[in-house]
Amino acid sequence: MKYTIDTACVHAGTIIDEVTRGTRTPLYPSNSHLHLRMDEDVYPRHSNLPNQRAVADKLCTLEQGEMALMFSSGMAAISTALLTHLRAGDHLLVQPGIYSGAATFARRHLHPLGIDASFTEGTSREAFEQALRPNTRAIYVETPTNPLLGIVDLGMIADLAASRGLLTLIDNTVATPINQNPLVAGIDIVLHSATKYLGGYGDISAGAAIGSTALLAPMVDYINDYGGCLNPQACHLLERSLLTLALRIERVNYNALRLAEMLAGHSHVSSVRYPGLPDHPSHEIARQQMSGFGGLLTFEVSEHVDLRAFQQALRLVIPANSMGEVATTLNSPFEASTSFRNLTEAQQKAMGVSRQMIRMSVGIENINDLSADLDQALRQ
Ligand SMILES: *Cc1c(COP(=O)(O)O)cnc(C)c1O
Repeated sequence: MKYTIDTACVHAGTIIDEVTRGTRTPLYPSNSHLHLRMDEDVYPRHSNLPNQRAVADKLCTLEQGEMALMFSSGMAAISTALLTHLRAGDHLLVQPGIYSGAATFARRHLHPLGIDASFTEGTSREAFEQALRPNTRAIYVETPTNPLLGIVDLGMIADLAASRGLLTLIDNTVATPINQNPLVAGIDIVLHSATKYLGGYGDISAGAAIGSTALLAPMVDYINDYGGCLNPQACHLLERSLLTLALRIERVNYNALRLAEMLAGHSHVSSVRYPGLPDHPSHEIARQQMSGFGGLLTFEVSEHVDLRAFQQALRLVIPANSMGEVATTLNSPFEASTSFRNLTEAQQKAMGVSRQMIRMSVGIENINDLSADLDQALRQ
Protein backbone atom coordinates (compact mmCIF):
# COMPACT_ATOMS: atom_id res chain seq x y z
CA MET A 1 0.00 0.00 0.00
CA LYS A 2 1.24 3.48 -0.87
CA TYR A 3 0.92 6.04 1.92
CA THR A 4 0.92 9.83 1.80
CA ILE A 5 4.27 11.50 2.37
CA ASP A 6 3.62 12.55 5.98
CA THR A 7 2.83 8.95 6.92
CA ALA A 8 5.85 7.72 4.96
CA CYS A 9 8.10 10.09 6.98
CA VAL A 10 7.14 8.16 10.11
CA HIS A 11 6.99 4.60 8.82
CA ALA A 12 8.99 4.03 5.61
CA GLY A 13 12.25 2.12 5.80
CA THR A 14 12.17 1.22 9.52
CA ILE A 15 14.10 -1.97 10.30
CA ILE A 16 12.58 -4.08 13.09
CA ASP A 17 15.30 -5.92 14.96
CA GLU A 18 14.45 -9.61 15.34
CA VAL A 19 16.09 -9.87 18.77
CA THR A 20 14.30 -7.02 20.57
CA ARG A 21 11.30 -6.38 18.26
CA GLY A 22 11.77 -2.68 19.11
CA THR A 23 9.60 -0.33 17.03
CA ARG A 24 12.52 1.86 15.90
CA THR A 25 15.54 0.97 13.75
CA PRO A 26 18.41 0.11 16.14
CA LEU A 27 21.84 1.63 15.70
CA TYR A 28 24.18 -0.98 14.20
CA PRO A 29 27.64 0.55 14.55
CA SER A 30 29.74 -2.45 13.41
CA ASN A 31 31.94 -1.91 10.43
CA SER A 32 33.25 -5.44 10.48
CA HIS A 33 31.08 -8.52 9.96
CA LEU A 34 31.52 -12.27 10.19
CA HIS A 35 32.01 -12.82 6.50
CA LEU A 36 31.90 -16.60 6.61
CA ARG A 37 28.20 -16.40 7.50
CA MET A 38 27.24 -13.66 4.99
CA ASP A 39 26.66 -13.71 1.23
CA GLU A 40 27.87 -10.13 0.73
CA ASP A 41 30.70 -8.19 2.31
CA VAL A 42 28.98 -5.67 4.60
CA TYR A 43 31.14 -2.56 4.97
CA PRO A 44 30.49 1.22 5.30
CA ARG A 45 31.88 2.19 1.88
CA HIS A 46 29.82 -0.55 0.21
CA SER A 47 26.73 1.34 1.38
CA ASN A 48 25.09 -1.82 2.69
CA LEU A 49 25.08 -1.26 6.47
CA PRO A 50 21.59 -1.62 7.99
CA ASN A 51 21.44 2.04 9.09
CA GLN A 52 22.53 3.25 5.65
CA ARG A 53 19.83 1.08 4.06
CA ALA A 54 17.07 2.13 6.49
CA VAL A 55 17.49 5.87 5.96
CA ALA A 56 18.10 5.47 2.23
CA ASP A 57 14.87 3.44 1.96
CA LYS A 58 12.92 6.14 3.78
CA LEU A 59 14.29 8.88 1.50
CA CYS A 60 13.65 6.72 -1.53
CA THR A 61 9.98 6.44 -0.53
CA LEU A 62 9.72 10.21 0.13
CA GLU A 63 11.17 11.08 -3.30
CA GLN A 64 9.33 8.19 -5.00
CA GLY A 65 12.52 6.68 -6.42
CA GLU A 66 13.68 3.09 -6.86
CA MET A 67 17.03 3.40 -5.12
CA ALA A 68 18.80 5.86 -2.81
CA LEU A 69 22.37 6.21 -1.58
CA MET A 70 23.67 8.06 1.46
CA PHE A 71 26.74 10.33 1.49
CA SER A 72 28.87 12.14 4.06
CA SER A 73 27.71 15.56 2.77
CA GLY A 74 25.64 17.17 0.06
CA MET A 75 28.81 17.88 -1.91
CA ALA A 76 29.80 14.19 -1.72
CA ALA A 77 26.43 13.30 -3.27
CA ILE A 78 26.75 15.97 -5.98
CA SER A 79 30.37 15.23 -6.88
CA THR A 80 29.90 11.44 -6.86
CA ALA A 81 26.78 11.66 -9.06
CA LEU A 82 28.54 13.87 -11.62
CA LEU A 83 31.76 11.84 -11.66
CA THR A 84 29.80 8.61 -12.10
CA HIS A 85 27.77 9.82 -15.04
CA LEU A 86 30.12 12.15 -16.97
CA ARG A 87 33.16 11.25 -19.07
CA ALA A 88 35.97 13.19 -20.73
CA GLY A 89 34.55 14.96 -23.77
CA ASP A 90 31.09 15.39 -22.24
CA HIS A 91 29.42 18.75 -21.71
CA LEU A 92 27.30 19.54 -18.65
CA LEU A 93 24.71 22.28 -18.99
CA VAL A 94 24.10 24.12 -15.73
CA GLN A 95 21.40 26.52 -14.60
CA PRO A 96 22.81 29.87 -13.36
CA GLY A 97 22.76 30.64 -9.64
CA ILE A 98 23.24 27.08 -8.35
CA TYR A 99 24.83 26.49 -4.93
CA SER A 100 28.33 27.97 -5.06
CA GLY A 101 29.97 24.73 -3.87
CA ALA A 102 28.53 22.85 -6.85
CA ALA A 103 29.62 25.60 -9.25
CA THR A 104 33.13 25.54 -7.78
CA PHE A 105 33.25 21.75 -8.10
CA ALA A 106 32.42 21.99 -11.81
CA ARG A 107 35.07 24.65 -12.41
CA ARG A 108 37.82 23.16 -10.26
CA HIS A 109 37.35 19.44 -10.86
CA LEU A 110 35.32 18.77 -14.01
CA HIS A 111 37.30 21.00 -16.37
CA PRO A 112 40.69 19.36 -15.66
CA LEU A 113 39.07 15.97 -16.39
CA GLY A 114 38.05 17.18 -19.85
CA ILE A 115 34.40 17.65 -18.91
CA ASP A 116 33.04 21.04 -19.95
CA ALA A 117 30.43 22.76 -17.81
CA SER A 118 28.67 25.94 -18.92
CA PHE A 119 25.85 28.06 -17.56
CA THR A 120 22.69 28.98 -19.43
CA GLU A 121 21.81 32.66 -19.88
CA GLY A 122 18.49 32.27 -18.08
CA THR A 123 15.95 29.64 -17.10
CA SER A 124 13.59 29.59 -20.12
CA ARG A 125 13.38 26.64 -22.51
CA GLU A 126 15.02 28.81 -25.20
CA ALA A 127 17.91 29.60 -22.86
CA PHE A 128 18.56 25.88 -22.31
CA GLU A 129 18.07 24.99 -25.98
CA GLN A 130 20.47 27.70 -27.14
CA ALA A 131 23.18 26.53 -24.76
CA LEU A 132 23.02 22.86 -25.79
CA ARG A 133 26.08 21.51 -27.60
CA PRO A 134 26.50 18.38 -29.72
CA ASN A 135 28.36 16.75 -26.80
CA THR A 136 25.93 17.82 -24.06
CA ARG A 137 25.37 14.77 -21.88
CA ALA A 138 23.46 16.12 -18.88
CA ILE A 139 21.52 19.08 -17.47
CA TYR A 140 22.04 20.11 -13.85
CA VAL A 141 19.47 22.30 -12.10
CA GLU A 142 18.61 23.53 -8.61
CA THR A 143 15.15 24.90 -7.81
CA PRO A 144 14.63 26.98 -5.78
CA THR A 145 18.29 28.06 -5.77
CA ASN A 146 20.23 28.89 -2.63
CA PRO A 147 20.42 31.82 -1.94
CA LEU A 148 18.79 33.68 -4.86
CA LEU A 149 15.53 31.65 -5.06
CA GLY A 150 15.71 31.13 -8.81
CA ILE A 151 13.07 28.71 -10.15
CA VAL A 152 13.26 26.46 -13.18
CA ASP A 153 10.36 24.57 -14.74
CA LEU A 154 11.06 20.88 -14.03
CA GLY A 155 8.53 19.57 -16.56
CA MET A 156 10.19 21.73 -19.24
CA ILE A 157 13.67 20.42 -18.33
CA ALA A 158 12.47 16.81 -18.31
CA ASP A 159 10.76 17.27 -21.68
CA LEU A 160 13.74 18.96 -23.30
CA ALA A 161 16.14 16.32 -21.93
CA ALA A 162 13.92 13.46 -23.11
CA SER A 163 13.81 14.90 -26.64
CA ARG A 164 17.65 14.92 -26.75
CA GLY A 165 18.38 11.81 -24.71
CA LEU A 166 20.06 13.78 -21.90
CA LEU A 167 20.49 12.88 -18.24
CA THR A 168 18.96 15.33 -15.73
CA LEU A 169 20.07 16.03 -12.16
CA ILE A 170 18.52 18.32 -9.59
CA ASP A 171 19.65 19.65 -6.24
CA ASN A 172 16.35 19.48 -4.29
CA THR A 173 17.82 20.70 -0.97
CA VAL A 174 15.85 23.93 -0.65
CA ALA A 175 12.44 22.48 -1.57
CA THR A 176 12.73 19.11 0.25
CA PRO A 177 10.60 16.12 -0.89
CA ILE A 178 7.68 17.52 1.13
CA ASN A 179 7.32 20.48 -1.25
CA GLN A 180 8.60 19.05 -4.52
CA ASN A 181 9.12 15.59 -6.06
CA PRO A 182 11.33 16.05 -9.12
CA LEU A 183 11.39 12.33 -10.05
CA VAL A 184 7.62 12.48 -10.55
CA ALA A 185 8.17 15.50 -12.84
CA GLY A 186 10.53 13.37 -14.95
CA ILE A 187 13.95 14.39 -13.59
CA ASP A 188 16.42 11.46 -13.41
CA ILE A 189 18.53 11.98 -10.27
CA VAL A 190 17.61 13.94 -7.13
CA LEU A 191 20.44 15.18 -4.90
CA HIS A 192 20.20 16.52 -1.36
CA SER A 193 22.30 18.20 1.24
CA ALA A 194 20.74 16.42 4.23
CA THR A 195 22.84 18.78 6.35
CA LYS A 196 19.96 21.24 5.86
CA TYR A 197 16.20 20.56 6.21
CA LEU A 198 16.36 16.75 6.08
CA GLY A 199 18.71 16.70 9.06
CA GLY A 200 16.80 19.68 10.38
CA TYR A 201 18.37 20.03 13.83
CA GLY A 202 21.64 21.61 12.73
CA ASP A 203 23.79 18.77 14.01
CA ILE A 204 24.72 16.42 11.16
CA SER A 205 26.48 16.54 7.82
CA ALA A 206 24.94 14.22 5.23
CA GLY A 207 23.90 13.93 1.61
CA ALA A 208 21.72 11.70 -0.53
CA ALA A 209 21.08 10.73 -4.14
CA ILE A 210 17.79 9.16 -5.28
CA GLY A 211 16.66 7.85 -8.67
CA SER A 212 16.18 4.70 -10.74
CA THR A 213 18.21 1.59 -9.95
CA ALA A 214 19.76 1.82 -13.43
CA LEU A 215 21.24 5.26 -12.63
CA LEU A 216 21.98 4.78 -8.91
CA ALA A 217 23.53 1.30 -8.88
CA PRO A 218 26.60 2.45 -10.88
CA MET A 219 27.22 5.08 -8.17
CA VAL A 220 27.90 2.39 -5.53
CA ASP A 221 31.37 1.69 -6.97
CA TYR A 222 32.11 5.43 -7.00
CA ILE A 223 31.17 5.94 -3.34
CA ASN A 224 33.31 2.94 -2.59
CA ASP A 225 36.28 4.32 -4.54
CA TYR A 226 35.98 8.00 -3.55
CA GLY A 227 34.99 7.18 0.02
CA GLY A 228 32.16 9.64 0.67
CA CYS A 229 29.90 7.19 2.54
CA LEU A 230 27.80 8.11 5.59
CA ASN A 231 28.55 6.59 9.00
CA PRO A 232 25.83 4.60 10.81
CA GLN A 233 25.55 7.10 13.68
CA ALA A 234 24.69 9.96 11.31
CA CYS A 235 22.32 7.66 9.38
CA HIS A 236 20.52 6.85 12.61
CA LEU A 237 20.23 10.54 13.55
CA LEU A 238 19.03 11.43 10.07
CA GLU A 239 16.42 8.67 10.13
CA ARG A 240 15.18 10.10 13.42
CA SER A 241 15.11 13.63 11.93
CA LEU A 242 13.02 12.47 8.98
CA LEU A 243 10.26 11.23 11.31
CA THR A 244 9.27 14.89 11.77
CA LEU A 245 10.16 16.21 8.30
CA ALA A 246 6.59 16.75 7.09
CA LEU A 247 5.58 18.50 10.33
CA ARG A 248 8.64 20.73 10.31
CA ILE A 249 8.30 21.70 6.67
CA GLU A 250 4.58 22.44 7.02
CA ARG A 251 5.42 24.96 9.76
CA VAL A 252 8.42 26.32 7.86
CA ASN A 253 6.25 26.88 4.76
CA TYR A 254 3.66 28.71 6.84
CA ASN A 255 6.18 30.86 8.74
CA ALA A 256 8.20 31.77 5.65
CA LEU A 257 5.18 32.93 3.66
CA ARG A 258 3.92 35.04 6.59
CA LEU A 259 7.38 36.59 7.11
CA ALA A 260 7.81 37.25 3.38
CA GLU A 261 4.49 39.13 3.40
CA MET A 262 5.41 41.03 6.56
CA LEU A 263 8.82 42.05 5.20
CA ALA A 264 7.38 43.03 1.80
CA GLY A 265 5.25 45.62 3.61
CA HIS A 266 8.02 46.82 5.94
CA SER A 267 9.24 50.40 5.60
CA HIS A 268 12.91 49.43 6.16
CA VAL A 269 12.89 46.65 3.54
CA SER A 270 13.31 47.52 -0.13
CA SER A 271 12.60 44.11 -1.70
CA VAL A 272 11.73 40.52 -0.81
CA ARG A 273 12.36 37.46 -2.92
CA TYR A 274 10.26 34.38 -2.11
CA PRO A 275 8.68 31.96 -4.62
CA GLY A 276 5.41 32.12 -2.66
CA LEU A 277 4.95 35.86 -3.31
CA PRO A 278 2.96 36.71 -6.46
CA ASP A 279 5.65 39.23 -7.53
CA HIS A 280 8.37 36.53 -7.74
CA PRO A 281 9.17 36.33 -11.49
CA SER A 282 8.56 32.54 -11.51
CA HIS A 283 5.71 32.42 -8.98
CA GLU A 284 3.39 30.63 -11.44
CA ILE A 285 5.90 27.85 -12.14
CA ALA A 286 6.60 27.48 -8.42
CA ARG A 287 2.87 27.22 -7.74
CA GLN A 288 2.51 24.45 -10.31
CA GLN A 289 5.43 22.30 -9.26
CA MET A 290 5.67 22.92 -5.49
CA SER A 291 3.09 22.07 -2.85
CA GLY A 292 4.70 24.58 -0.46
CA PHE A 293 7.30 27.28 -1.06
CA GLY A 294 9.89 26.28 1.53
CA GLY A 295 11.78 28.09 4.24
CA LEU A 296 14.34 30.12 2.34
CA LEU A 297 13.79 33.77 1.47
CA THR A 298 16.00 36.75 0.74
CA PHE A 299 15.30 40.38 1.34
CA GLU A 300 17.11 43.65 0.88
CA VAL A 301 17.16 46.11 3.74
CA SER A 302 16.94 49.83 2.88
CA GLU A 303 20.13 51.77 2.21
CA HIS A 304 20.05 53.49 5.61
CA VAL A 305 19.92 50.20 7.59
CA ASP A 306 23.35 49.08 8.76
CA LEU A 307 23.56 45.30 8.16
CA ARG A 308 25.87 44.66 11.09
CA ALA A 309 23.76 46.71 13.52
CA PHE A 310 20.63 44.92 12.28
CA GLN A 311 22.18 41.50 12.92
CA GLN A 312 23.46 42.56 16.33
CA ALA A 313 20.01 43.83 17.33
CA LEU A 314 18.36 40.44 16.75
CA ARG A 315 17.37 38.71 19.99
CA LEU A 316 15.76 35.53 18.65
CA VAL A 317 16.78 35.05 15.02
CA ILE A 318 20.36 33.74 14.88
CA PRO A 319 22.97 35.24 12.55
CA ALA A 320 24.63 32.04 11.26
CA ASN A 321 26.03 30.74 8.01
CA SER A 322 24.17 27.44 7.67
CA MET A 323 20.46 26.94 7.09
CA GLY A 324 17.60 24.46 7.17
CA GLU A 325 17.30 23.88 10.89
CA VAL A 326 14.48 24.30 13.40
CA ALA A 327 15.81 27.70 14.47
CA THR A 328 15.50 30.73 12.19
CA THR A 329 18.90 31.86 10.97
CA LEU A 330 20.09 34.57 8.60
CA ASN A 331 23.27 35.79 6.98
CA SER A 332 24.59 38.14 4.34
CA PRO A 333 25.22 36.14 1.14
CA PHE A 334 27.42 39.00 -0.04
CA GLU A 335 29.72 38.67 2.97
CA ALA A 336 29.52 34.86 3.03
CA SER A 337 30.41 34.27 -0.61
CA THR A 338 33.57 35.42 -2.32
CA SER A 339 31.97 34.30 -5.60
CA PHE A 340 29.40 37.12 -5.19
CA ARG A 341 31.96 39.72 -4.07
CA ASN A 342 34.22 38.91 -7.01
CA LEU A 343 31.54 39.67 -9.62
CA THR A 344 31.59 43.04 -11.36
CA GLU A 345 28.87 45.47 -10.30
CA ALA A 346 27.02 44.85 -13.57
CA GLN A 347 27.12 41.08 -13.01
CA GLN A 348 25.90 41.50 -9.44
CA LYS A 349 23.02 43.61 -10.69
CA ALA A 350 22.14 41.05 -13.37
CA MET A 351 22.11 38.24 -10.79
CA GLY A 352 20.18 40.29 -8.26
CA VAL A 353 23.01 40.22 -5.72
CA SER A 354 23.39 43.25 -3.50
CA ARG A 355 25.35 44.34 -0.45
CA GLN A 356 22.10 44.99 1.47
CA MET A 357 20.80 41.46 0.87
CA ILE A 358 19.92 39.07 3.70
CA ARG A 359 19.25 35.36 3.26
CA MET A 360 16.90 34.00 5.89
CA SER A 361 16.27 30.33 6.66
CA VAL A 362 12.96 30.26 8.49
CA GLY A 363 12.52 27.82 11.38
CA ILE A 364 9.58 26.47 13.35
CA GLU A 365 9.31 29.12 16.10
CA ASN A 366 6.07 31.01 16.70
CA ILE A 367 5.40 33.38 13.81
CA ASN A 368 4.55 36.33 16.10
CA ASP A 369 7.85 36.05 17.95
CA LEU A 370 9.81 35.90 14.68
CA SER A 371 7.91 38.79 13.18
CA ALA A 372 8.34 40.97 16.27
CA ASP A 373 12.08 40.24 16.49
CA LEU A 374 12.74 41.12 12.85
CA ASP A 375 10.66 44.28 13.15
CA GLN A 376 12.45 45.57 16.26
CA ALA A 377 15.89 44.81 14.78
CA LEU A 378 15.03 46.57 11.51
CA ARG A 379 13.95 49.63 13.49
CA GLN A 380 17.20 49.88 15.48
C1 LIG B 1 24.48 23.29 1.67
C2 LIG B 1 24.10 22.97 0.29
C3 LIG B 1 24.83 22.04 -0.46
C4 LIG B 1 26.08 21.37 0.07
O1 LIG B 1 25.78 20.54 1.12
P1 LIG B 1 26.86 20.07 2.22
O2 LIG B 1 26.11 19.10 3.06
O3 LIG B 1 27.31 21.30 2.96
O4 LIG B 1 27.99 19.45 1.46
C5 LIG B 1 24.40 21.74 -1.74
N1 LIG B 1 23.32 22.34 -2.26
C6 LIG B 1 22.59 23.25 -1.58
C7 LIG B 1 21.42 23.89 -2.22
C8 LIG B 1 22.96 23.59 -0.28
O5 LIG B 1 22.25 24.51 0.39
